[in-house]
Amino acid sequence: MSESTSPVAVIGGGLAGLAAAVTLAGRGHRVILLEANEWLGGKAAVLEGEGFRFDMGPTILTLPRVLKRVFAEAGCDIAAELDLVRLDPQWRCFWDDGQVLDLVGDVDAMVSNIERFAPGSGAGRGYRRYLAQSQRLHGISENFFFWKSVQGIGDTLDVRANMNLSTLSDVLALRMGQTLGGVVRRHVDDARVAQMVDHFVQYVGSNPFAAPAVLGAIADMQTSEGIWYPRGGMGAVPAALARVARAAGVEVRTGAAVEAIRSEHGRVSAVTLAGGETIRVRAVVSNMDAARTYRELVPAAYRSELEPSPSKQVEPACSGVVFYLGLDRAYDHLAHHSFVFSRDAHEEFEHIYTRGELAPDPTCYLAAPARTDPGVAPAGGEALYVLVHTPYLRPHHDWKRMLGAYRKVVFAKLARAAGLKDLESRIVFEEHLTPEDIHRRYRVLNGAIYGLASHGRFIGAFKPGNRRRRLPGLYLAGGAAHPGPGMPMVLMSGWIAADSLDADLRAAAKAAA
Ligand SMILES: Cc1cc2nc3c(=O)[nH]c(=O)nc-3n(C[C@H](O)[C@H](O)[C@H](O)COP(=O)(O)OP(=O)(O)OC[C@H]3O[C@@H](n4cnc5c(N)ncnc54)[C@H](O)[C@@H]3O)c2cc1C
Repeated sequence: MSESTSPVAVIGGGLAGLAAAVTLAGRGHRVILLEANEWLGGKAAVLEGEGFRFDMGPTILTLPRVLKRVFAEAGCDIAAELDLVRLDPQWRCFWDDGQVLDLVGDVDAMVSNIERFAPGSGAGRGYRRYLAQSQRLHGISENFFFWKSVQGIGDTLDVRANMNLSTLSDVLALRMGQTLGGVVRRHVDDARVAQMVDHFVQYVGSNPFAAPAVLGAIADMQTSEGIWYPRGGMGAVPAALARVARAAGVEVRTGAAVEAIRSEHGRVSAVTLAGGETIRVRAVVSNMDAARTYRELVPAAYRSELEPSPSKQVEPACSGVVFYLGLDRAYDHLAHHSFVFSRDAHEEFEHIYTRGELAPDPTCYLAAPARTDPGVAPAGGEALYVLVHTPYLRPHHDWKRMLGAYRKVVFAKLARAAGLKDLESRIVFEEHLTPEDIHRRYRVLNGAIYGLASHGRFIGAFKPGNRRRRLPGLYLAGGAAHPGPGMPMVLMSGWIAADSLDADLRAAAKAAA
């Protein structure tokens, strides 16, 4: 087969791989998607049993316009593919002292909520100021970080060409050298409200007291553009992407684990599957975790590009444990999304991110989707999803031993702070997902849910770039690549990888003509 008729390969059918495949096929490339598991969607998997249906991974969808742009690449309209429902309140927040605060999208209404919740603290005004700053950071992210392959400040900012007063003011607004947690507390003078605002950065599995202030943009992305639920559950998203990919001509192979990326004459030439089959390819988008792509698939001569030395290894984001609880009676006081906050944000983050140990009193995230989508549970019941962030896997973590004890800690917390006192008696179906399961099922780094940690006041916002410089023909997509984790960002990373690949192949064809 000549090079020009060889397909491009996408390794992995997670949301990023599917977005890359749809975009590449939409641009006219022959695409083969190779997924190790028997299902598509990666972490956006679905669990069904005894009349209950659970989204196993992501439950919160923000920035649906990213998905819209991916569908548009294949000539499809998002409204024809997905029935998206906007949720408000966005989160219901619970604390040990019995206080409850609803996070709503409208800023004026939210400021009033906070003033009632923490009277006299000024936290409402502080929240408004923080969101105004977040909106600015969101705009800057759109200009400098989004929709292009970026690995460091030099990729996004050409100081000589672009440096004018407006750019300088944008750079200053990034508040380089400041942590997100620090900036939040300068604005919001109430520990509980600050804790709520910190949690936007939990979408990227990182410590607010080590993450750069620029990640404050996430608050505006959610509050202004909303939280969305696809009717049928989050699994409807990869199902729609897979449908569009196949219709656009993508050859989808499940049960196809890639064991090696091959190179010839200094560029990607083929992939080899477990079992020995080798497929010649023009280029590869890897949706496998970036570090594991380099450690396990890339030819040895190129491995040091991502991790130049043992002291410069990447840091995984946090992991998590999920309980999927089929209840015969729903809890009416829960919102679709609720957070039950820890007693002390510093103690919690110190345990998870610094010590690498379970938080003694964790924040629990709950999804109770039956109120939006009654089909997820038998009549009157609930498919309750409980997620608790944990450290990424360390050698001494043995989840077969840790799970039972931590379940008790989590259930006690839910009883104490969120009133789920009779939770055990309502459970008629139960499954769980531990960091070890996440590590094995999705082939990630140390069980990380959200790719690489966004730690470091100056460089924490940067992830490995999508276009790889030392091995032409290799592109990275997914939570451990630019622009980072979470549904909208991984979909965007798939689009960027595909767009870069498309541009490079077109440029090569033009040069050869
Ligand atoms: C419990 C949990 C809750 C979450 N909650 C949210 C949320 O509410 N909102 C949100 O936005 N995000 C959330 N996330 C994060 C979000 O799910 C991820 O950022 C996103 O789904 C990652 O997509 P991905 O395509 O990068 O990777 P993955 O989903 O991990 O997909 C990678 C795919 O590549 C395949 N693969 C790997 N190696 C190979 C190989 N060698 N050969 C072939 N195939 C391979 C894997 O099998 C997998 O299917 C959550 C994640 C988890 C686990």
